[in-house]
Amino acid sequence: MSGGSILLKGGILITPSASIKADIKVVDGKIAEIGAALNNAGVEEVLDVSGMYVFPGVVDEHVHMREPGLEYKDDFTHGTAGAAVGGVTTVLEMPNTKPPVDSATILEEKKRLLSQKANVDFGLYGVIHNTNAHNFDDIVAAGAVGFKIFLGPTTGNIPPPDDGTLYEVLEKSAKYDVPLAFHAENADLVKYFTQKVRSSGRTDPSAHTDARPPICEEESIRKLIILSKWTNGRVHIVHIAAKEGVELVREAKHMGYKVTGETCPHYLLLNTEDYKKYGTAIKVNPPIRDREHQEALWKGVLDGTIYTLGSDHAPHSAEEKKGDIWKCAAGFTGVQTFLPLMLDQALKGRLPINKIPQLMSENPAKLFRLWPRKGAIMVGSDGDFAIVDPNGTTTITKEWLIAKYPITPYIGWKLKGSIRYTILRGQIIAKDGKLIQPRKGTFIKP
Ligand SMILES: [Zn+2]
Repeated sequence: MSGGSILLKGGILITPSASIKADIKVVDGKIAEIGAALNNAGVEEVLDVSGMYVFPGVVDEHVHMREPGLEYKDDFTHGTAGAAVGGVTTVLEMPNTKPPVDSATILEEKKRLLSQKANVDFGLYGVIHNTNAHNFDDIVAAGAVGFKIFLGPTTGNIPPPDDGTLYEVLEKSAKYDVPLAFHAENADLVKYFTQKVRSSGRTDPSAHTDARPPICEEESIRKLIILSKWTNGRVHIVHIAAKEGVELVREAKHMGYKVTGETCPHYLLLNTEDYKKYGTAIKVNPPIRDREHQEALWKGVLDGTIYTLGSDHAPHSAEEKKGDIWKCAAGFTGVQTFLPLMLDQALKGRLPINKIPQLMSENPAKLFRLWPRKGAIMVGSDGDFAIVDPNGTTTITKEWLIAKYPITPYIGWKLKGSIRYTILRGQIIAKDGKLIQPRKGTFIKP
C-alpha cells in the first residue's frame, strides 16, 4: 500500500491517556518514530505543527454514504471528501445501500466500486435481515468489519431477523469475534405509537419523538443483552438516545457481557426543546429526546459506559427533507461536523480532550478489529492524523460542507477549534477545509 513520509514537528499529541509534546515521523505511511527533536532523515516533508493538537485520525464507525443505489441523496466521493476535511481518516460504511450488502458477492462489488472513489480509508458492514443468515460466514470471509442489524424501521426498510435467527448469528459473532451493530428499537412498538400519535392529528415536529418513545429502545436493548448473555455474542448498540439505554448498557458492562454502546453528537447537543428552533431538521431515528435523556448520555460518555461515538452520517435530498414531520426523511449529514462539534465541546470544557481519541479513534478501531493499525498513535500504526489549531474557529456553513445537499441543523454554529490538516498514511489529504489530494483512500479489513 502506498504511503507518504512526513515529519510532524512540535505538536501536542492527544492520546486517550495523555497529552504529550513530541515529534512524529511517518515513513512509507506508517509511524516510524515518536520522540523529542526527531531529525528529518528519510522524509520528503517537514510540517511545523507547533502549538497544534495532533489527534489520531478519527475512525467514524457509523456512516451511510448512500452509494450504490441512492446517489440521488449523496455519494461516496462527496461523503469521503467531507470526512477528510473533518479529520476523519477511516469510515465504516453501513450496508443499507441498494442492493443491501447481504452477501459476499455484493460486499465485493461495493468494495470494488468504492475503492475507486475513496478519499479516506474505509471498511464495510454486511447486513443480516430476515432471510440471509446463511451468508454470515461468507460475508466475514470477504472482509466485513461487522454487521448491522435493523430491529427498528428506518431508511431502506430492511426487515429484521426473528429471535431464533438473532440467537444463531450472535453465536456466530462469538465464534468469529465479529461485532453486530444494532439499530435497537422495537418495530411493533414504533408502529403502534406512530399510528397513535399520527391519528391524533399532530404534525408538530416533536410528534416524532412521541411516536418512538424510550420504551421502544429499552425493550429492544434489554432483549439484545439477554441474547448476548446466552450466546456470548458481541452486541454493539448504536445511536443510543434514551437514558434507559445507557442504564442497561452500564448494567450489562458490570455483569461482564460483551455489550457496548454508541451515541452520536446530535443526542448530546440537542434535546426536544430544540424542535422550536430547528423544526423537522432534527428529525432522526431514534429521535432526539428530552433533556433528562441528554444528560444521562453525557454521564454515560464521561463515566465510560458509552464506548464509542459515531456520526450516523445520513444525508438525504432537499426534496426528501421537505414536508411535515411525517413526510420529512430522518437523518442528516454528519461525518464532516463530527470532530468539529466534539472538539468544540472539549475546548469549552464539557468533555476531557483525551476522550476524543478514546471514543472516536481507539475504541471504534478496537471494536471493529482495526486497532492498532487504525485509531492509535503508536510506532507501526498507520500515519493517520487530524491536526487541530485549538485557538482557531470553525463556522459551519453550506459552502464549507461537502455534500450534494448540505443539510444539517448546525448551519451557522460557531465552534472553537479548527482542523488545519488531515493526514492519511503520511499524506496530507486535506488542508484548511479543502480536499487537496483526492482518492487516496483504500479498503481495509480486520
Ligand atoms: Zn445509522
